[in-house]
Amino acid sequence: MDIIRSISEMQQRVVAARAAGQTISFVPTMGFLHQGHLSLLDEGRKRGDLLVLSIFVNPAQFGQGEDFDDYPRDLQQDSQMAQDRGVDIIFAPEAAQMYPTGYATYVDVEGISENLCGTSRPGHFRGVCTVVSKLFNIVQPHTAIFGNKDFQQLAVIRRMTRDMNMPVEIIGLAIFREPDGLAMSSRNVYLTPQLREQALVLSQSLVVAREMVASSETESATIISRLREMIRRQPDARIDYIQICHQLTLEDQAHVDADSVLLLAVYIGNTRLIDNGFLEPGHD
Ligand code: AMP
Repeated sequence: MDIIRSISEMQQRVVAARAAGQTISFVPTMGFLHQGHLSLLDEGRKRGDLLVLSIFVNPAQFGQGEDFDDYPRDLQQDSQMAQDRGVDIIFAPEAAQMYPTGYATYVDVEGISENLCGTSRPGHFRGVCTVVSKLFNIVQPHTAIFGNKDFQQLAVIRRMTRDMNMPVEIIGLAIFREPDGLAMSSRNVYLTPQLREQALVLSQSLVVAREMVASSETESATIISRLREMIRRQPDARIDYIQICHQLTLEDQAHVDADSVLLLAVYIGNTRLIDNGFLEPGHD
């Protein structure tokens, strides 16, 4: 496995691989790998001859006062995990190479990126779409693999890829959870044992909402207000949003149907956690 830091070297490697007839699969991450990331790598390993993992904590997708500086980083541990998983190349560029002085080009996806995290993190998806576009141009993958954990991010990237005619197949994989239900996240490392316990309220909200739907409750407002009550009982929880949206448009829905996804963002202490899931059975 190689670790490549230079953009031009990365481009040369994939151009040579493509010329030799190899397919390229790609898993973009911010590192500090956990089993959720590893499930993406396993899928990538199956789908490409050359598996590229990028590790880049992208400053453009963090807002003022967010955790860019504190975001956990451990390239050595990540390299070991990646190697064990059969990664061929880790691409880990420096921010100064990705955004040199005078950098001026950004990618904005309208509409679908404006609700949910787009409202509470202005500029976040612009940063995400910009870096993913750049990474696609650098790595030139046939297939790129993302997690449903970041449901809106995946929807925005699918839209961007389609709108911009990017020749990349986008694959979305199920949320990988701890045995007690907590969605795996690099940010879980911020949680003390007490906060970790309270963080279960996110996945429990999904369970409760699904139970309500199974017993014929279809009013989104009723479901959301029950979840609000439940989350507010946790002393260190602060709700950013709880919404029920259509899986494709991400517009709010007044009534639950087969396309409804519950999406939540909740601060547990200072840590902002997200989770989501379909409300009707039949999805993963
Ligand atoms: P991140 O490093 O957190 O930006 O995530 C990189 C990729 O891993 C994104 O496509 C995420 O959606 C995905 N991912 C993060 N956590 C999980 C998880 N628990 N299960 C599945 N995929 C995940």
